[in-house]
Amino acid sequence: MSNMDKRICERETESVSLPQGDVHLARPSVLLHSCCGPCSTAVIERLAERYRIVIFFYNPNIDDEEEYKRRLKAQEDFVKQYNASINYHEPITIVRGNWNSKAFHERSKGLEDEPEGGKRCRLCIEQRMEVTAEYAAMNGFENFTTTLSVSPHKDYEMILSIGRNLAARFGINFVNEDFKKKNGFLRSIELSKAHELYRQNYCGCNYSKRTVEPSEVPE
Ligand code: SF4
Repeated sequence: MSNMDKRICERETESVSLPQGDVHLARPSVLLHSCCGPCSTAVIERLAERYRIVIFFYNPNIDDEEEYKRRLKAQEDFVKQYNASINYHEPITIVRGNWNSKAFHERSKGLEDEPEGGKRCRLCIEQRMEVTAEYAAMNGFENFTTTLSVSPHKDYEMILSIGRNLAARFGINFVNEDFKKKNGFLRSIELSKAHELYRQNYCGCNYSKRTVEPSEVPE
């Protein structure tokens, strides 16, 4: 892992003590890497019954600070609304990874002109999943995964192979689930609208802004 990837993370919310006798105590924990609030909506909905979820918001690929803040706020807004709507298990918390776009640029040097889905994207996704897996292993999580597969632009086979390698390296389980399946992407659009979340129309790095067309499916 690059030395540039500082792993200083901070809990945004306090950890939650669970009520005694809660049947959901038996659920295993998952650290869910999240790229943005909208993508996380459908994934949280799908995983919450089976896992105790902690969100890991880690996206050094986003160059623009205003954009980074907008996406973080959308994430926080959704989690707040979600937590207010549930009463049968503990609230979801957010861990915010260090935002260091320099680390992303060092990794992607020479790959600036790659098309979306190419070599730059593999490194970018690997960086985000690697830091997630390391944080999960260091903090006693049983599982990790990422919201990235919700997007139709993301190749699940690539995500799965990265996830498996990291799982073996860090000794934790990767949740093998392609979240775009079973209409996951459409569901994320529906939920984003219902919760009035900010929803970007490009992936995240400055290079991905070049490929945005007004009619393009948002990320
Ligand atoms: S297009 Fe998206 S996945 Fe690819 S490098 Fe840029 S931010 Fe990362």
